[in-house]
Order: sequence, then C-alpha cells, then structure tokens
Amino acid sequence: MSYDHNNIFAKILRNEIPCNKIYEDEFVLSFHDINPQKKIHALVIPKGNYIDLDDFSLNATSEEMVGLLKGINIVAKKLGISTEVGEGYRALANIGDHGGQEVPHFHFHLFGGEKVGKMVE
Ligand code: 5GP
Repeated sequence: MSYDHNNIFAKILRNEIPCNKIYEDEFVLSFHDINPQKKIHALVIPKGNYIDLDDFSLNATSEEMVGLLKGINIVAKKLGISTEVGEGYRALANIGDHGGQEVPHFHFHLFGGEKVGKMVE
C-alpha cells in the first residue's frame, strides 16, 4: 500500500484544513482530536509521510523516531498529563484494518485528564 497524500492528516500538515494545534516542531505536529474519547484526547503525528507504525519502523530515520517519542513527552507535559507534572495517560496507536486505524497517516492518540479505563474493550 502506498501513502495516500489526500488523507485528512496530510491535509492538516499542508494547512489545507485547520486543526486545534497543541505543539509543532521539526518532527511532529500535535492537535486535539475532533471527536474526543476522553477529557483529554490529543493526536501526535510525525511530519513525514508514514502510513502506520510498521511503515514508520521500517522507513523513518533515527532522528524522526527520536523526534516522535520526544514530541509525545513534550505534548503530554504541555497538557499536564505526563508523569512529571500530572497523573499519567495512555498512548495508543491503531495499526491497519484489525487495529481499527481510520486515518492512514501514522499517529499516536494520547488519552488522559481522567482514568482512561480498560486497555481493550
Ligand atoms: P484512528 O482510528 O485512525 O486511529 O484515529 C483517527 C482519529 O482522527 C479519530 O480519533 C478521529 O476522531 C480523528 N480525526 C478524524 N478526522 C479529523 C480531523 O479532521 N481533525 C481532527 N482533529 N481529528 C480528526
């Protein structure tokens, strides 16, 4: 499968559609999910065109990988949910059809601001 340049997150990255931005740097963009499932529901996406975690693991540079992990921590801190400043959160990536992935641009969900419940329902 090749990367679909018309997916919704690609359009957000190109500023073709708006987002409620939380953080941006060289490697990541983070914004609030349009349909939050918990009190805090943020998305963190790499700026590179990767479909899912497998694509990212196989093809991203080491700098992009570090940048994504660091970006998640920066966003969690900004939102007050990292364990340094808050009570913790869940980072989750859906991968492919069985994983329930809807948008084919790799992203992490960050859920927090309350107890997020069972891992899988
Ligand atoms: P997935 O199921 O692919 O892991 O998650 C996709 C997420 O993107 C969903 O939680 C959905 O609510 C969110 N989403 C879909 N379209 C938009 C949009 O246009 N803007 C924002 N901020 N989030 C979106």
